[in-house]
Amino acid sequence: CGIFGITGVAEAANFVALGLHALQHRGQEAGGIVSYDPEAGFQSARRFGYVRDNFTKASLMETLPGALSIGHVRYSTSGSKGNTAIRDVQPLFAEFAMGGCAIAHNGNLTNAEQLKAELIERGSIFQSSSDTECIIHLMARSIQSNIPERIKDALRRVEGAFSLVAMTRSKLIGVRDPRGVRPLMLAKIGDGYALASETCAFDIIGAEFMREIEPGEMVIITPDGIESFYPFEKTQSRFCIFEHVYFSRPDSVISGRSVYETRRQIGMELAREAPVDADLVCPVPDSGTPAAIGFSQESGIPYAMGIIRNSYMGRTFIEPTEHIRNMGVRLKLNVNRAIIKDKRVILVDDSVVRGTTSRKIKEMILDAGAKEVHFRIASPPTMWPCFYGVDTPAREQLLASTMSEEEMRVHLGVASLKFVSLDGLYRACGEDNGRNVLDPQYCDACFSGEYPVRPSDMIERGFQM
Ligand code: 5GP
Ligand code: SF4
Ligand code: MG
Repeated sequence: CGIFGITGVAEAANFVALGLHALQHRGQEAGGIVSYDPEAGFQSARRFGYVRDNFTKASLMETLPGALSIGHVRYSTSGSKGNTAIRDVQPLFAEFAMGGCAIAHNGNLTNAEQLKAELIERGSIFQSSSDTECIIHLMARSIQSNIPERIKDALRRVEGAFSLVAMTRSKLIGVRDPRGVRPLMLAKIGDGYALASETCAFDIIGAEFMREIEPGEMVIITPDGIESFYPFEKTQSRFCIFEHVYFSRPDSVISGRSVYETRRQIGMELAREAPVDADLVCPVPDSGTPAAIGFSQESGIPYAMGIIRNSYMGRTFIEPTEHIRNMGVRLKLNVNRAIIKDKRVILVDDSVVRGTTSRKIKEMILDAGAKEVHFRIASPPTMWPCFYGVDTPAREQLLASTMSEEEMRVHLGVASLKFVSLDGLYRACGEDNGRNVLDPQYCDACFSGEYPVRPSDMIERGFQM
């Protein structure tokens, strides 16, 4: 998901809509905005589909007045999937004795089912199937006298990944879980401030990036300035390495590193680790593009756009059902026959999950007359599901957890198949000595199976680590 919040600017909800539009790649199922204005009070709008189709000045923006506003774009990793109910669309809102509070959450709570059962037992009435709602009910049970303290109380009980933006009548609040699995950034705009999942959301509104919210940090922003707190026990940070590989936009900056540059470096690592003699390096657009550029630069093999993407489609993987996903691949990508014919082609993609994309693309490329197809993948084999906010399927559906590399090569029907090593990926992310095996610098559980936060709900349901 993508989250955005802003305070201290007129027509704040307009900025939220723009910020969410820049974060649309993080979630395309639905979006929501809440605003506060002293006269109008809290106002909200929740809609299915793209931000650009729903949150236009003419239609909705007039109903979201005020200088304080937050928003969310949804990609379902918990709660209802595919057929998202509008009540699951964030920001969630609750009225407490001390005033209203809206919350938008990126990440996934790993003990939400247990908390929910406990809260229902004690009388809470849930209105959504979203894990985030646990935070609201935990806040309701807190004895603290103000909302930020109640948020702290609630967050000390939840486990998993959470980057949050929240708002009260007067405060914009940002929090990151102690491991900082999901990103959250801070910027200055005029006399106000903004929070966003990624820096690309600041560029679109001309805000000036200040710094990242740190793992375990909570900021409370008012017109008087920013207060910072560390409400949790300190622990080693474990940012999601897959944000660098795929999830974030390439024009965003994370930990002072350009995401594009990291991806280009992954391609260079791949070219060194798994060289192959061929005529062309082609990306699977758009997610494989920066890595393909790096592969081409390092290997000296010419880069070409062998596959053309129709940019009016959304991200295929994110369409929740198998059926839609299968349709999506064909609607979205087409081979550039003229340049592929009779060539030995290296195809670079960011990841193999179920392998459906790779298989289809290989077929299209061979149908177009390519002599050979070599796959190079800019992440290690995805062998484990993510429980922290990325919708990877169960193990049985992950190609790499059911097949060896050679079996995958045969299954995909390609001349060669290589994945970047975990150490190579860490080097590309700026860790010159690779992965610290005793205390890894990132979360890489979908590749390594080492989960930095125990996925207790899933273990309860029988998941075996
Ligand atoms: P597959 O076709 O192997 O099931 O999926 C791999 C493709 O899905 C890649 O091209 C990748 O860019 C794309 N993709 C989209 N969303 C995700 C995601 O959340 N996780 C992963 N691993 N890949 C995704
Ligand atoms: Fe990111 Fe993978 Fe960890 Fe999920 S399991 S947070 S996708 S690195
Ligand atoms: Mg892709």
